[in-house]
Parts: sequence; C-alpha cells; structure tokens
Amino acid sequence: MKIVFATNNENKFKEIQSMMPQSIEIISLKSIGCHEEIPETADTIEGNAIMKANYVTLKYGYDCFADDTGLEVDSLNGAPGVYSARYAGEQRSSEDNMDKLLLNLENKKDRGAQFKTVIALNLKGEQYLFTGIARGEITLTKMGNQGFGYDPIFRPENYEETFAQLSLETKNKISHRGIATQELIAFLQKQK
Ligand code: IMP
Repeated sequence: MKIVFATNNENKFKEIQSMMPQSIEIISLKSIGCHEEIPETADTIEGNAIMKANYVTLKYGYDCFADDTGLEVDSLNGAPGVYSARYAGEQRSSEDNMDKLLLNLENKKDRGAQFKTVIALNLKGEQYLFTGIARGEITLTKMGNQGFGYDPIFRPENYEETFAQLSLETKNKISHRGIATQELIAFLQKQK
C-alpha cells in the first residue's frame, strides 16, 4: 500500500516512516510534486488535520494522511490548543511560547495539561480520524534539551522527567503522536 503523508517536516516524516511496517510505503509531498505551503487555517486541531489531508487528496488525487497537534492546558480552558505553534507570535519561537505559558501559569495551582494529536486519513473515498492524547503537567521551569516545542516544560503522567529529558524512544511510545500513529498503523494493517 502507498500513501502520502502531508507534512513538510522531515523529522516527522522520518519518525513516522520508521514506525511503519514494510507493507505500507509512505510518500512525501515533494515526490508527488507538491512544493507549496498547505493551508492550515481551521480553528480546531481536527479541522487542520482534515484540511491538510483533503488538500492533497482533492488537488493531487492521492490517498493521504495528515496530522495536527496542540497543547491544551486545563486552567487556560484548553489554550494554546490549535494555536500552539504561534502562541507568542508569528515568529513561532519555542522559547517565547514556553516563556509565555510559564508566565500565564504563574498564579495557577492547576498545571494539568495534555498534548493532543489528530491524524486525518483519506483512503479510498472515505475519511477516518485517529486521536492520541498524552496527559501530564506543565513544570515550573524548563528542563532537558531533547525534543522540540514545549517538551522542556511538559512532564507526562507517571514520569519524573519532562519530554525533553526522556529518550526519543520512550517519548514515541507514550506521546500523543506516537499513540495516534500506532492507531493509524493498526487500522492500515487491517486494510487489504
Ligand atoms: P504540529 O501540528 O505537529 O506542527 O504542532 C504544532 C505545535 O505544537 C508545534 O509547533 C509545537 O509547538 C507543539 N508540539 C507539537 N508536538 C509537540 C511535541 O511532541 N512536543 C512539544 N511540542 C509539540
């Protein structure tokens, strides 16, 4: 089976490719001639995943999946959510985003939060959604230097370390994206 993964993020592409069984071949946007930026202007995580997958299927005619992720903080009513990448502005700086979040939580007792990934899959004219959630809490300071985004301030449930202190292997097993991807793979493996 061949399927396009609608992302321009090479790290993500490699990460998900490495999890796929041999029977499923993941195709990049470049290799189908899609070099433009795909719009992601929906106001929900689900909406953005669907928008990206539909763009490729409608414009290029391929079966395709796309993912979108956000960090939802309980005491901020789910913010930054779909706006996680540009929480502190269009410069999309992880340092600025983390600083803003730590500041906004300064007086909050409840530091509970979750990462949510939604994968939208277009396959043979049908659409399917897969969701992965990693619960945890926002730490008081940044810790660790692995990973990306909000990893240094997110401590997953049942762990003492932040995502940025855990190995990539451990993070992939318990992370939002890891869980959603495992669901996608299990589903694809059941298809003929
Ligand atoms: P995307 O939809 O995967 O591009 O994720 C949107 C934003 O959420 C990213 O720019 C990061 O700020 C944040 N994010 C997504 N996944 C992770 C993660 O695994 N760790 C930390 N931050 C993440």
